[in-house]
Amino acid sequence: MSEGVDRSIEAFDLLSDELRLDILRTLGEAMAGDDEIPMSFSELQRRVGVEDNGRFNYHLTKLVGGFVRKVDGGYKLRPPGISVYQAIISGAYIDEGDVEPTQVEGEFCNDCQAAGEAWYENSQFHLGCVECGKLIIHYPIPPGSFDRDEPESMLTAGSAWILRDQVTAQQGVCPYCAGTVEATLSGDDSGMSALGKRKYTGVVSFDCRRCSWVLYCNPPFAISTDPVVIGFFSKHDIDVFDRHPWTTYPDAEERILSRDPWRVEVRYHVDDVELHVTIDENTDIIDASEVTPERAE
Ligand SMILES: [Zn+2]
Ligand SMILES: [Zn+2]
Repeated sequence: MSEGVDRSIEAFDLLSDELRLDILRTLGEAMAGDDEIPMSFSELQRRVGVEDNGRFNYHLTKLVGGFVRKVDGGYKLRPPGISVYQAIISGAYIDEGDVEPTQVEGEFCNDCQAAGEAWYENSQFHLGCVECGKLIIHYPIPPGSFDRDEPESMLTAGSAWILRDQVTAQQGVCPYCAGTVEATLSGDDSGMSALGKRKYTGVVSFDCRRCSWVLYCNPPFAISTDPVVIGFFSKHDIDVFDRHPWTTYPDAEERILSRDPWRVEVRYHVDDVELHVTIDENTDIIDASEVTPERAE
């Protein structure tokens, strides 16, 4: 076993205790709120609710150095402690179970114009069509990021995670480990098999070679936060960051110019103006022009 794995086992071992997780959660909540940080030993002990001084001190001491820092006046979280706190509140490691499909406001299927429905299954947010059953999008999001009783909150959370990850990936950086992300445009749709019927033939995969994170998407979405595309929409009063990412390009078209090497032209429409963007096999934009349909070939 590598040294990195050995040391991770030590760290996870330290965390396999309810009281220690309570200490991290209490400090995390205090840091996120307006509470005084560093927190004194007695205040921390009071909040965690342990009366036995010796027992509390034993567990707190175990955390100091790795997850907690002892400073003048008390204790605060170290960056690894903050990561653990973030994992606790996002519910990243918890399976809360599925949420049944519920019709959601303002979402429509591009194919049949019927209403959309959202559900949560296998730790993934899903958006599909009530009528034809088409799956529009699915993406893993932690269960703590939405309210299970409010399906719309799932849309907001899904939207936020997808947009964040897309922006980072498009910049070539993995949103989860900061490793290098490689973008590939191809016709390989094996990663999108769950979507069944798809409008676009080109498939873009953003791959992290370090942590194995991968995002599969269609060409219009893959380049949707490129300055060229943002600028086009912005000129037409559409802020691509102010809406669910899958609603930015409802009628975008894809033209495959070449399969060897892969070249795709994406056509975005706003009112009677179009932005034509050609991307190469690494999704780099090699040509972009704004045209009005009369003048389009
Ligand atoms: Zn439909
Ligand atoms: Zn990664």
